[in-house]
Amino acid sequence: MSEHKIFRINIVTPDGLVYDHRSTLVVVRAIGGEIGFEADHEPTLVSLQIAPVKIYRVNGQIQYVAVNGGFLEMDDNVATIVANTAERPSDIDVGRAQTAEERAREQIKKAKQDHDKAALRRATVALNRAINRISTVSLKNH
Ligand code: ATP
Repeated sequence: MSEHKIFRINIVTPDGLVYDHRSTLVVVRAIGGEIGFEADHEPTLVSLQIAPVKIYRVNGQIQYVAVNGGFLEMDDNVATIVANTAERPSDIDVGRAQTAEERAREQIKKAKQDHDKAALRRATVALNRAINRISTVSLKNH
């Protein structure tokens, strides 16, 4: 039997609660790098990159959620991620993400030609969102 202690992980967006389960370990990509959270972690607030969040469920199953930045707060054995958007793999439309990826790559090319730094930043973030969705689905299938 697993000795791991349990905590709760919630993921919320302006559209509502996307994820709410018990977990033994959650791994996120924070601004400073990858961080794993286990139960009894000290109260923490970290900013997140646009990246898949890896969640170890109590039954040993691993789940991924595509999280679009935001932050994670850990307090009293509840980890709460608040982000603009977050999708579970089953909710991700890969075709839409591929179209978004192609569009963003075109926009990046044009922004570079135009020396438009603001457009380049926006398109780079859009590209990261699309790649994050595509990788989250492919991680789930491994
Ligand atoms: P697109 O260009 O395809 O709209 P986007 O990155 O601009 O992508 P967002 O602004 O991040 O989209 O998200 C808008 C809404 O659409 C959010 O509710 C988000 O969860 C959802 N969404 C975006 N892309 C996808 C996708 N590929 N599959 C499922 N839901 C998506």
